[in-house]
Amino acid sequence: MVASSMDVLVALCKRRGFIYPSSSVYGGLAGMYDFGPMGVELKNNLKASWWQSMVYDRDDIEGLDSTILMSRTVLQHSGHESTFTDPLVDCRNCKARMRADFIVNNECIYCKSTDLTEARDFNLMFATTVGPVVNDENRAYLRPETAQGIFMNFKNILDSQAPKIPFGIAQIGKAFRNEITPRNFIFRVREFEQMELEFFVMPGDDEKWHQYWIENRYQWWLDQGLSPDRLHQCDQEKDELAHYSKRTVDFLYDYPHGQDELEGIANRTDYDLGSHTKEQSSLNIQANVKDNTDSTQRLAIKHPDRNEWVVPYVIEPSCGVDRGVLAVLCEAFDEETLANGQIRTVMRLKPHLAPVKFAVIPIAKNNPVIMKCAKSITQKLRSQLGKKVVLENTGNIGKAYRRHDEVGTPFCITVDFDTIAADDATDPGTVTVRDRDSMQQIRVPLEDIERVANELLSGGIEAFAQVK
Ligand code: ATP
Repeated sequence: MVASSMDVLVALCKRRGFIYPSSSVYGGLAGMYDFGPMGVELKNNLKASWWQSMVYDRDDIEGLDSTILMSRTVLQHSGHESTFTDPLVDCRNCKARMRADFIVNNECIYCKSTDLTEARDFNLMFATTVGPVVNDENRAYLRPETAQGIFMNFKNILDSQAPKIPFGIAQIGKAFRNEITPRNFIFRVREFEQMELEFFVMPGDDEKWHQYWIENRYQWWLDQGLSPDRLHQCDQEKDELAHYSKRTVDFLYDYPHGQDELEGIANRTDYDLGSHTKEQSSLNIQANVKDNTDSTQRLAIKHPDRNEWVVPYVIEPSCGVDRGVLAVLCEAFDEETLANGQIRTVMRLKPHLAPVKFAVIPIAKNNPVIMKCAKSITQKLRSQLGKKVVLENTGNIGKAYRRHDEVGTPFCITVDFDTIAADDATDPGTVTVRDRDSMQQIRVPLEDIERVANELLSGGIEAFAQVK
């Protein structure tokens, strides 16, 4: 089973500390969400998994962290100031504003009135002013995508790291879009995070690399636990393509609100580097070059065989962290009916994504020997794994299991009277390890717990039976 209703998921996320509406004490701020103690762990784990596969597992990609505030000039030359718009419609009846392409049957999506204005372009970028003087010259934007920061640093990375083409630059960071109609929980928000790779290739090799990244990224999402039954690939129609794209393949996931975009993999051609490059006449530029009088750098590489400059083509896999978190949560959500008729809610998250890896639960909170033992196990696992290990000390084991099922903790370790009864090596104390998914329990000698914990985590849930 997966989450079929967004309401159930939203309630669980609030109850268990994954996600809360932002500024909620004062009624909230539309299109903004805060990630709580469980949410931040899940989000960090998803980002770490992406970074691992992009930056640490390869020789041809470097990482970057560029600024959120960007010079207006950058976003003028990238085309965002003139074209990064959505069609906006006003309802004359209830005064609501909405995206024209979200309207069905020419009816207001809030009050159902058909008294609507014509659609007009609305720019999605948040503008601000840098420095004390508020004027057009000092205008800056909160970046609407992380990609432009990568293009701005293309030359720096080329000069400092000397990568050979093809190579990529990866970045994870905040992006901001003043969405006309934020909705569907964290699916469409105004402040979000993106994980973006710009992979630079020789013109002519672009289609081959585009296909490579489509396959690579699809597999990565399966590795995060998404089912191929719910993750679809879809070629954007020509008239849907962004201003820079030759071809874009979207990954659509079956969210509770319907099938919608999780990631886009675009062939951005040489549009961006070309647009930001000065001295066009001396370059062998393929297409779409604009007036670049403000750009100070030549964003091109020397052809490996010929004495000429080439503006590389760019393949861009770009996904939203928040939409990723939502997809992973939807996929992991399960409700099962137990033998006693009770419903168990469980998040079947992959162990590498689970916010808490182990919960250590002392069976009696007032027993100092049990508590001491539980604390010592917790400390050992924390220092060995470097991950979140929680010591539960409510003394209510059933409640602890329920909580950790709902946050997706793969394993609970219970310290009981058998753990502390042992007094010699022939009768070692044991702890109970409970598997989240099967609820199966095994007893593990105390002295083996660190080794077993490692095997459980690295082998996943499947390793459980073998450990036994
Ligand atoms: P959409 O058509 O849904 O508005 P988009 O095609 O404009 O999305 P891109 O510009 O391709 O999106 O951005 C890359 C990725 O960033 C998207 O695949 C998505 O995961 C994420 N993203 C874009 N806009 C938002 C948003 N408002 N809230 C959350 N994530 C977003």
